[in-house]
Amino acid sequence: MTQDRQASGSPPIVHLSKLNKHYGELHVLKDIDLTVTPGEVVVIIGASGSGKSTLIRCVNGLEEFQQGELEVDGNTLLPNGKATKALQKIRTEVGMVFQQFNLFPHLSVLDNVVLAPMKVRGWDRDRAEATAQRLLARVGIGDQAGKYPSQLSGGQQQRVALARALAMEPRLMLFDEPTSALDPEMIGEVLDAMRELANEGMTMMIVTHEMGFAREVADRVIFIDKGRIAEQGRPEQIFDSPQQAPTQSFLSRVL
Ligand code: ADP
Ligand code: MG
Repeated sequence: MTQDRQASGSPPIVHLSKLNKHYGELHVLKDIDLTVTPGEVVVIIGASGSGKSTLIRCVNGLEEFQQGELEVDGNTLLPNGKATKALQKIRTEVGMVFQQFNLFPHLSVLDNVVLAPMKVRGWDRDRAEATAQRLLARVGIGDQAGKYPSQLSGGQQQRVALARALAMEPRLMLFDEPTSALDPEMIGEVLDAMRELANEGMTMMIVTHEMGFAREVADRVIFIDKGRIAEQGRPEQIFDSPQQAPTQSFLSRVL
């Protein structure tokens, strides 16, 4: 089956080859081979402690790895944190949204969003503010720009975090359980904003326990078991007819 949003023939935006990561004695990621093409939406699922966050954090250089190779948009990271220029480039081009929103509490919503483009991209304030206002409106909180994070609901704060990441015009967006810290009634508004982003063609890697959302937006679902990619495929393949015992067992517990 063809992958709808995937631009065929273009070079991969993420390429991991035989990537291994250890925390001391603990072998957290095992021989991870993974290629993500521009426009693709990849959802990563798996039990708690299976290595999902570590994988995502490796992709934007927040974690070192010990063996293998990692390439993001043409920037190659080598084991043990070598190649720092590439690391800076990757951090500039990859946006990330965490479970905890990690907004700057002492800055207004608007200032949270304009900060990185002004500092890192060197945009002047007018340009950064225009972009920020447009993005805040796009995630449905255009009227909240002057408030502080503590004055917003969790769902609104997470949408600020999304706008803040998008303000850097990232080539790739990473999400690590972006709705896990939210009250149930706020999950939908964050998933809606992410769904829209996916439909606009953003390349995304998403760790989530929202299986309905995964089924709907993913071009590919990757199941991680004890640090290994145990199974991957189209959402309907993985959810409706998982082939591996660990996938079957995991899905029977969460679906
Ligand atoms: P997941 O996101 O799938 O729940 P993680 O990637 O957070 O899993 O963790 C994978 C494994 O690595 C777990 O056993 C966890 O305890 C361990 N781990 C995560 N971060 C660290 C760290 N900073 N130091 C040591 N062990 C860690
Ligand atoms: Mg995690």
